[in-house]
Amino acid sequence: MEENKETNSHIHAVYLALGTNVGDRKSHLLCALKTLEKKGVRVVLRSNLYASKAYGYAEQDDFYNMVVGVLTDLPPFSLLKTLKEVERECGRCPTFHWGPREIDIDIILYGNLVLSDVDLTVPHPDFRNRDFVLRPLMEVGQMIVDPITGRTIEDLYRLLGKDTCVNAGSLDTAEEVSE
Ligand code: AMP
Repeated sequence: MEENKETNSHIHAVYLALGTNVGDRKSHLLCALKTLEKKGVRVVLRSNLYASKAYGYAEQDDFYNMVVGVLTDLPPFSLLKTLKEVERECGRCPTFHWGPREIDIDIILYGNLVLSDVDLTVPHPDFRNRDFVLRPLMEVGQMIVDPITGRTIEDLYRLLGKDTCVNAGSLDTAEEVSE
């Protein structure tokens, strides 16, 4: 039987970036990982936490950032919808662009998919400019090649030449280094 190319029942390897800079940042991250699992998004790889200064709008608390590798059979837009639900369920309140947030989850890479839509761009359009994404992504995705530039994550990190984030250890043991 010929495979239907439109069905999306395969398992996809996806890399998500999580960030938080409001309230109990570690518990927001733990909530997000737990809620992802509950919704069938399997978290198989976890980077360390990285503490970094807020980006875009500086008058706010430092961020904790991390990257996770997940396995999911959700197609990209369903995954985005699920991530928005997880953000809401883990206490995200509406804020302004680049403003403080309890929890933010971005799709960085979705297999080798390249997608540009008003609601979703994959790979994430700004990830090559963010050391707080590339640094943790290097830990869990040494074998990844960016489907747009053809470069490894390590190459992208070296090319960016920026290192503003501090390794704060694993989520379970992280010290409050940024306070
Ligand atoms: P944010 O403020 O970071 O939660 O993201 C705002 C919007 O960015 C989301 O509602 C998405 O529609 C859009 N977006 C576009 N590309 C992505 C992506 N790769 N990952 C997550 N959100 C994205």
